[in-house]
Amino acid sequence: MATKAEKTMLQWRNVGSGSHVLATPGELLNTGLVVGRDRALVVDTGCGPRQGAQILAAVRQLTELPLIVVNTHAHYDHFFGNAVFAADGATEFWAHENAAKDMAAHAEVQRPLVSKLEPEMAAGVGENTALVLPTAVVGEQPVLVDLGGFSATLFHLGLGHTDGDLLVGTPTALFAGDLVEHGAYPAFEDSYPAQWAQTLRQISALRHRYEFLVPGHGEPVDDDFVHTMATTMSTAVRQAQEATREMPDDATKAIPVLPYGPVQSRWFITRLKETSSRPN
Ligand SMILES: [Zn+2]
Repeated sequence: MATKAEKTMLQWRNVGSGSHVLATPGELLNTGLVVGRDRALVVDTGCGPRQGAQILAAVRQLTELPLIVVNTHAHYDHFFGNAVFAADGATEFWAHENAAKDMAAHAEVQRPLVSKLEPEMAAGVGENTALVLPTAVVGEQPVLVDLGGFSATLFHLGLGHTDGDLLVGTPTALFAGDLVEHGAYPAFEDSYPAQWAQTLRQISALRHRYEFLVPGHGEPVDDDFVHTMATTMSTAVRQAQEATREMPDDATKAIPVLPYGPVQSRWFITRLKETSSRPN
């Protein structure tokens, strides 16, 4: 159960006509809600039945329409709440094709990560703790989801936070998932650091199309923020590559000069090495 304090914190923020964003407590996951005439689209469902139920309750304050769900990528905090929405009647769950594969292969092993926040989900016991996987996927081509009166566009811009990051565009807002991170360092565990900066530049190139840019966590940001995030990442790639050339056996020497915290800098170097031969 959500406490009274948590309930009062759950406030939708309007990001243009029909588009809304809700930050849930904890890691400030941003859930998007796009309301059309006939259907509404929910972007990211939280890390289990507790958070999922909070999100659904907030959704139902704004609309009674049938729901379509989009998961921006294969990390637990973005799709472990899916079962709550399936129980509410949703049958259409969208993700990028790589994210869908990743979820099918690695959803179970992510359960222990929610042991504190969602003990039932971690144990896989109880109501709405099933792993509900995508039923529809997006590949190279964008997909338009008709909500009645207008469509939301689901599309992929390249490698970044993961290999299956999906963006959701509405007439006014762009939901960028964890490709854009506000209030915390970018998370590099499953990332493609060298290509991520380029993908951020592609987001930046869309700046005139959307009035609002919603990151996966934290406050909505402007184009300067995305531009800075891209520049910082490109510089970090260069710094890490130089350090690796100078000290091939100990690239961790680069950690203090990188613009991220020690944990994320370590991941950055590891993933840069692991992914450097992969074409964009
Ligand atoms: Zn993530």
